[in-house]
Amino acid sequence: MPYPAGRHFLQIPGPTNVPDRVLRAISAPTIDHRGPDFARLTHDLLDNLKSIFRTTGPVVIYPSSGTGAWEAALVNTLSPGDRVLAFETGHFATLWRELATNLGLQVDFVLGDWRHGVDPDVVAERLGKDTGHAVRAVCVVHNETSTGVTSRVADVRAAIDRTGHPALLLVDTVSSLGSIDYRHDEWGVDVTVSCSQKGLMLPPGLGFNALSEKAVRAGATATLPRSYWDWQPILTANQRGFFPYTPPTNLLYGLRESMLLLAEEGLERVFERHTRHAAATRAAVRAWGLEVLCLDEREHSAALTAVLLPAEHDADKVREIILDRYDVSLGTGLGRLAGRVFRIGHLGALNDVSLAGTLAGVHMGLKLAGVPIDPGGIDAALRVLSGS
Ligand code: PLP
Repeated sequence: MPYPAGRHFLQIPGPTNVPDRVLRAISAPTIDHRGPDFARLTHDLLDNLKSIFRTTGPVVIYPSSGTGAWEAALVNTLSPGDRVLAFETGHFATLWRELATNLGLQVDFVLGDWRHGVDPDVVAERLGKDTGHAVRAVCVVHNETSTGVTSRVADVRAAIDRTGHPALLLVDTVSSLGSIDYRHDEWGVDVTVSCSQKGLMLPPGLGFNALSEKAVRAGATATLPRSYWDWQPILTANQRGFFPYTPPTNLLYGLRESMLLLAEEGLERVFERHTRHAAATRAAVRAWGLEVLCLDEREHSAALTAVLLPAEHDADKVREIILDRYDVSLGTGLGRLAGRVFRIGHLGALNDVSLAGTLAGVHMGLKLAGVPIDPGGIDAALRVLSGS
């Protein structure tokens, strides 16, 4: 393979591009994780994470991927045989359901078409019928990374409240935190699950749980077996600035830096940038004459766009051409969408020109692959980016 000049475009919907400042922060020497400098780092991180999750409650950090943080949310709040209400919004909701089932939970899985988010009316209907309050938790994936559909968590909360049902609300923000507006406290979420490698612009390796008081109380009586994931020893050690086991020190340096970057840009502006990039991407896709997978205008993801190809074209073949010829990585179709869609990630550290470059790579790749497209896609995207 000849040396590919220029920067690789990592435009999958996570892991995302890691900014140079974060990479430099990660490369600092590892320090004693039981020493005073480390304690200061921990206190600083745990304080700042609250503003990212928009909570005043505790945030637990794990050396894990998002899957670990999923498991932690369940084992800390639930007991064997507990009923959980979950929604088939796509591949990741399906994986979380499988994990819950493997843990011995009974999951009521509301089937979906992978083109819509969670319907708040269905939440109200299901919980309204559960007069005995057998359902202990409602699990929602905020941004379904396999489909580019963002569920309306505030409306889900309102639906739960309408029924007066006491179920916990567990929300996966793996691909929304730091990219799409999210409010743990205001939306009455009990456990928010997230991780490092998407909107936080870090490499994979950190998982998070943000906890409500109700979640912590549920933890006191929940009996699913847990040890590594147990919140209590972590919360106790965190008070002194430490962890019950060896923490991923260098990723934590990176987290400190990435939160500084988000604060410098300002979270509101970060969300606006993602929204604008998503609108520009959809404008390109539609002008090319292709279909955006998400079918509800209220639910378009600001973090990624899944593009549905005509049935006679293999989306993976198109991705392969775009990678080989233009050094741009796009997300593959997952689960039942394999070969049908490719996903353009526009989350994390990305500016207008990088997005325009990505879309140019997609445009040229579609043409090389013989997918018939109208030529106006890039112009349509640039009009959105330039606000004209
Ligand atoms: N949830 C969502 C929405 C995801 O996109 C992913 C991974 O991309 C996961 C959970 C699982 O996270 P991980 O692969 O880091 O374990």
